[in-house]
Amino acid sequence: MQPCPPRSAPYWLDLGDVAVVPLVELSRLPIEPEEFFPGSGQIPSATWCFDESWFDREASRLVFTIQAFLVVTENEVILVDGCVGSGKPRKRSHFDNLDPSWFTEFTNTGFTPEDVSTVVLSHLHVDHVGWTTQRTDHGWSPVFGNARHLVSQRELAYWSGDDGRAAMTRTGDYLADSVAPLAEHGLLDFAEDGRQIGRHVDLLDAPGHTPGNLCVRVTGSKAELLLAGDLLHHPLQLFDPDISTRYCVDPNQAAATRHDILTAVTARGMVLQTAHFAGISASRLNKEGSRYTLVPATDTIRTGQYHRP
Ligand SMILES: [Zn+2]
Repeated sequence: MQPCPPRSAPYWLDLGDVAVVPLVELSRLPIEPEEFFPGSGQIPSATWCFDESWFDREASRLVFTIQAFLVVTENEVILVDGCVGSGKPRKRSHFDNLDPSWFTEFTNTGFTPEDVSTVVLSHLHVDHVGWTTQRTDHGWSPVFGNARHLVSQRELAYWSGDDGRAAMTRTGDYLADSVAPLAEHGLLDFAEDGRQIGRHVDLLDAPGHTPGNLCVRVTGSKAELLLAGDLLHHPLQLFDPDISTRYCVDPNQAAATRHDILTAVTARGMVLQTAHFAGISASRLNKEGSRYTLVPATDTIRTGQYHRP
């Protein structure tokens, strides 16, 4: 198995009566800018979004993180996304046959898989669904056996249709080992815009990156947070929100959705936390002209290992 690179020091986000804990699988994943963002070469490399946390200047590679989030409320333990997963054969070498160190990140919180009440799959890309299942004597079995796993119906329909099946032949059929077993065990459920999960969490449609892409809003007594998933992948999309990735199913719709949601996040003073920004990136937004900058949400950031109450 491939050893995962070292993760950054642990931290968590304190929203008052809700905790949000990042569970990092790969802390520094380097990718060539034009491979990921066609047209991004026009952004001056002195711009703040090429800070060393987010750009490896020596290698000329953008730096990404792969992570999931645990949202802990008074009566819910909600896992948002499932990273790449362990021991799974994958075509992209960075994702192939990873070691299980992400699971230690999870158990370090003091929770067991049985404690997780809901798993939200923001969308069905390979780096968001992997830890939903693990290899057992019976094949690929659910990891979080007490949890309902929520996905948008439009998302599942897309990946089950012609375009989605064609994509699977290119990437390898990761849905067969990571999502199909959830349905077989009766753990897969549909979610849509406005779906409420307990008192503190609700889901927002964010189509474009994929047709049924979802964001997760977490409302605590001290702060409101948007787990924005893949609404943005890298801070350069705050410098230029029109830039979408090569992997967006509908790049124009992805940009329109990004504009809408960033406008709302800024107006409401919400904390933005994405799936792939490297380092401690939880921030509020400032808008200057057509561009955004990040203002670290230091009032919510707690360094050290989170442990369940
Ligand atoms: Zn992703």
